[in-house]
Formats: sequence, C-alpha cells, structure tokens
Amino acid sequence: MKLTGTCPKCGSTDVHPALHSNTNNIRPVEGRSSDTVYTTHYVCRSCGYVEEWVKPEETPLLQRNFPQK
Ligand SMILES: [Zn+2]
Repeated sequence: MKLTGTCPKCGSTDVHPALHSNTNNIRPVEGRSSDTVYTTHYVCRSCGYVEEWVKPEETPLLQRNFPQK
C-alpha cells in the first residue's frame, strides 16, 4: 500500500499512513533491545488491512541489527 496506494486485499485506494506507536517495532529473535528497529504503518479504511514497514531512516540498521546467519 505504501508503494502502490492501493490495498492488496480489497483494491481500495482509501489508504492512509498511520502514526508510529512504541509497541510496533521489531528486533532479531535473539537480539538485544538496542537492536530494535522501528516501524510505521499504512491502513486501509475500507477493509481495515494494515501494512507495516521499517521506517526509511531505519533501513540501514537492518544490515547491522539483523546479521546474516
Ligand atoms: Zn482494503
């Protein structure tokens, strides 16, 4: 939805960015809290589907915080 502006579930274009919440973040399964990467969301007002993305400014941290096994 972020890239297309269209909901992949219902086809609606009634898609909106949603405010960041501190409860919405990710980190590696065995990672430390300092490895947390913050996310943002897009919500479809028509069907309620929510899409989650790592914030653009945080994507460089994915290489460091989510190392290859
Ligand atoms: Zn939808």
